[in-house]
Amino acid sequence: MNILLLGATGSIGDSVLSVIKENHSELNLFGITFHKNKNKSQEIIKDFKPEFAYVEDRSTFEDLKDTSDITFLNGDSSLKRLIEHEEVDIIISAISGFAGLKATYLASSTGKKILLANKESIVAGGDLITARAKKFNSKIIPIDSEHNAIFQCLSGQRSPDDVQNITITASGGPFIGKKISDLKDVTKDDALNHPNWDMGSKISIDSATLVNKCLELIEAKYLFDLEESIFDLVIHPQSIVHSVVTYKDGSSICQMSMPDMRVPIAHALSNEHRLPINFEKINFNDLNLSFHAFPEDRLQIQKIAREVCNSGGHLGTIFNAANEVAVESFLNDQISFDKIYEVIHRTFDNNSMSKDVSIESIYEADTQTRIKAKKVVKSIT
Ligand code: NAD
Ligand code: MG
Repeated sequence: MNILLLGATGSIGDSVLSVIKENHSELNLFGITFHKNKNKSQEIIKDFKPEFAYVEDRSTFEDLKDTSDITFLNGDSSLKRLIEHEEVDIIISAISGFAGLKATYLASSTGKKILLANKESIVAGGDLITARAKKFNSKIIPIDSEHNAIFQCLSGQRSPDDVQNITITASGGPFIGKKISDLKDVTKDDALNHPNWDMGSKISIDSATLVNKCLELIEAKYLFDLEESIFDLVIHPQSIVHSVVTYKDGSSICQMSMPDMRVPIAHALSNEHRLPINFEKINFNDLNLSFHAFPEDRLQIQKIAREVCNSGGHLGTIFNAANEVAVESFLNDQISFDKIYEVIHRTFDNNSMSKDVSIESIYEADTQTRIKAKKVVKSIT
């Protein structure tokens, strides 16, 4: 199987490369894309010898293009050709944030298997991406751990009507048990320090605010084409039960593993048989699992996510862009952690956009929302 790894230099990229390494007789890294991390990309190229490396940043591309005998690419038309390359069997969408939409959109019309980590492209482009994937027979398999868990739990189901509800679990992040009003003075290091997972900075902040779970609710609605009301969000601090599907006959089926993204990735990469990886076993002799309610003061943000699910159109684009600006502003020391919620609430506007969704209108809605969100940030600082 030839793999094209979009966002190869990131945290998901690392986990994918590790699974490929352990299964090199079946999996081949055919191509990579990345933004501008020279050192990391050179290490990957040396280790895996892909045929193509697409570099998003022009000056990084200029610096790298003659450094190895593989083919370096830059520019939108080259990205399109690489994604559509007939030798690519599997496309892994692991760019962080809205920046991943361009590649995920291109991948959606290839008819290839797409392994999706980049949840923001589904949230921002939901009505468009999943419909295009369906139209062109591109099979999207989630590697976000909760969605991969749901995917596995649904695989024995006879009909979509058999599902009563689906519980998406959330670790609670580094500030578990804290109220928003307790979080005024937390530092970036506190917020980036996730107790269970080692991830890129954007998703780490989303996990700390619990907005990640709201994005995941929208992601789940689109990927599984189910009503928003089917999904519950629950805090599960150990991150061992990755989600639960409850059927109408009373059976609840869950997927469990220690928190390690290589597990859902190995599942999504498997074909006829499961791919073996060296994983940490769950120690059932000494296991305490706990679950508790989503914090009350985050219900308002969850309500926005549910509204996005129910209304569609550009609301996902707006929610996502408002959150991305808020997270960047926190990471740039412009606002305190607790203000991330305020920026999202004040930017989210459910009346401003038409329902007619195209790739152009998504980019327009994203741009307009970022302008508005930056004004909100300015008014706070
Ligand atoms: P990361 O920040 O570690 O890596 C991001 C990757 O995207 C890098 O390869 C970078 O070069 C590339 N990139 C960034 N900006 C780009 C741009 N403008 N154009 C092209 N490429 C660009 O992020 P990550 O933690 O690996 O997360 C990737 C995606 O996977 C996110 O959507 C995240 O929500 C999702 N995800 C991550 C985890 C995890 O454990 N890290 C778990 C579930 C889902
Ligand atoms: Mg997740």
